[in-house]
Amino acid sequence: MDKLHCQFPSRTCCAMVFTEPQTVMGSSQTCSSLVLEANLALSMRDYLKSHGVRPKGSVEYGFMNHRAPANGRYKPTCYEHAANCYTHAFLIVPAIVGSALLHRLSDDCWEKITAWIYGMGLCALFIVSTVFHIVSWKKSHLRTVEHCFHMCDRMVIYFFIAASYAPWLNLRELGPLASHMRWFIWLMAAGGTIYVFLYHEKYKVVELFFYLTMGFSPALVVTSMNNTDGLHELACGGLIYCLGVVFFKSDGIIPFAHAIWHLFVATAAAVHYYAIWKYLYRSPTDFMRHL
Ligand SMILES: [Zn+2]
Repeated sequence: MDKLHCQFPSRTCCAMVFTEPQTVMGSSQTCSSLVLEANLALSMRDYLKSHGVRPKGSVEYGFMNHRAPANGRYKPTCYEHAANCYTHAFLIVPAIVGSALLHRLSDDCWEKITAWIYGMGLCALFIVSTVFHIVSWKKSHLRTVEHCFHMCDRMVIYFFIAASYAPWLNLRELGPLASHMRWFIWLMAAGGTIYVFLYHEKYKVVELFFYLTMGFSPALVVTSMNNTDGLHELACGGLIYCLGVVFFKSDGIIPFAHAIWHLFVATAAAVHYYAIWKYLYRSPTDFMRHL
């Protein structure tokens, strides 16, 4: 027998569902009333499933859940939770090593500061994302904690976008107007953070619009640089992010959609790292020669 205990919007309901044939001995309840009760509970379960709510304590082991309601969050299955955690957790160490390498390859103070900014954005993205997905998987009953980490997961994306452009904006020569993008991109990141504080999960399309605007607007400035080395890789990474957005918005339509989105992010971040390492910092062979 399985106990279904849930919270409807207006009242608390509790019902018993018999999953195996039962013998009712010495009970005042008739079989027909039990069947009626079981039917009620089953339809309640269908109702909850269709609204993305699972019975308390139950675990979903499928490869994909139902789509989330417009103003609610998608609930990944156990396998999806695991994939979401591992796809970003495995990138934390490479991100730290990669950041340290850029710092070592820096020629001057400004390159060092830029390596720090970029490295912190890169590492923060994978660390915050991994922690959020672990909390969402293992500590989902701690609603406030999960909500805070979800907000951090969203905020860090704005800072990651700003940090990804920082090496190009800081280390390449820009025109007098374009150079304003150096500080304006951080203003946009701060604006995005405030937006998450105020309207987190309320207007998902607006949130996506902000991410894309922030992702594309510095590209207009960067492409106007005299030195265009590395811009192909920069555009290629941007295209990979854009393709990944299709999966970012496909929870409940494509199994493991969010984990696939993570892989797109990882690939795009790797392409951007390669371009920064190759075109903006001293080559490792040159560095070894001067040791
Ligand atoms: Zn994620």
